[in-house]
Amino acid sequence: MSETNLKSIAVLTSGGDSPGMNCAIRSVVRTALGAGLKVYGIRRGYAGLLDGSFEEMNASSVGNILQHGGTILQTSRCPEFLDPEIRKEAFHILKRKKIDALVVIGGNGSYNGAFELYSEHGFPVVGVPGTIDNDIQGTEYTIGFDTAVQTAVEAVDKIRDTASSHARTFIVEVMGRKSSAIALQVGICTGAENIVLPDQGEPDFLQISKDIKRGIQRGKSSSIIICAEGENPGLSYRIQERLKEDHQLDAHVCILGHIQRGGNPTAHDRSIASHMGHVAVQALIEGRSAIATSLVNGKVVELPLEECLKKDNKFNPQMENLAKVLSI
Ligand code: ADP
Repeated sequence: MSETNLKSIAVLTSGGDSPGMNCAIRSVVRTALGAGLKVYGIRRGYAGLLDGSFEEMNASSVGNILQHGGTILQTSRCPEFLDPEIRKEAFHILKRKKIDALVVIGGNGSYNGAFELYSEHGFPVVGVPGTIDNDIQGTEYTIGFDTAVQTAVEAVDKIRDTASSHARTFIVEVMGRKSSAIALQVGICTGAENIVLPDQGEPDFLQISKDIKRGIQRGKSSSIIICAEGENPGLSYRIQERLKEDHQLDAHVCILGHIQRGGNPTAHDRSIASHMGHVAVQALIEGRSAIATSLVNGKVVELPLEECLKKDNKFNPQMENLAKVLSI
């Protein structure tokens, strides 16, 4: 698309919400308005695209939102969008609304939907990575990760207080079905005695018990095991059972759950989201599409969307080693 063609763009948030999505929306809307474009917000992701939930945005539509978690546009999972016929319908809806390009803020699934719109119908799209899991290929960072980690760290600090007072062991479950990123970072930042990650298969119960017992022998007043939730619910309770039955260790379970998704975005998330929203619209204005705004070597750059479609667990053995070294 050439610079002169672009008159009107739309933005949506899709998949799991993440703190900082609002900052990205704000940045997309204000960058576009500043360039003289019309901007539409689409409610509830691809579901809202299909049922025509479009709303023209102005500078005030995105006022006073950057400090709030969640997404003012709301989000959804829309299984219908997996159907090429439905995507064709979506394309025609966008055309009828005279929208020239779409900015999709979301995770890996949302990127796939956006890429299909582009590859099947040539519709210009840009992806902005919004997910707390930090698991999108190509980018070092996804919007919301820092806030989710900060929330979990604050929670574990509180749990540590009570664990120390009672000389207890806690298993704290953090988000991450397939992604190790939150668990590893939280483990390092809270001095966890052991971290259980989703990509390591069955947890090593013997090693966990050894790590806990070593700490107790050294006189530690509390122990924390950080456990990524994994794909099958109940992992923390299974660890609790096995520690009790096979290793005579009592542990309490605390599942942090959705509190990790909400809350005011950290300065880091606000900053990255603001940069990425701006780069997304700038790319469209300059005639580039089918790209994903990505953090590479600490800088926000554009990568071909096709290169960013896969999930990337970003498991980092150095971080795992650091956690082990520091937890003795
Ligand atoms: P996230 O974007 O956070 O990874 P999901 O995986 O649930 O969340 O994807 C969000 C939405 O993106 C899905 O509900 C669906 O509408 C769309 N989507 C996901 N995968 C595809 C795909 N392969 N093709 C087309 N659309 C998809």
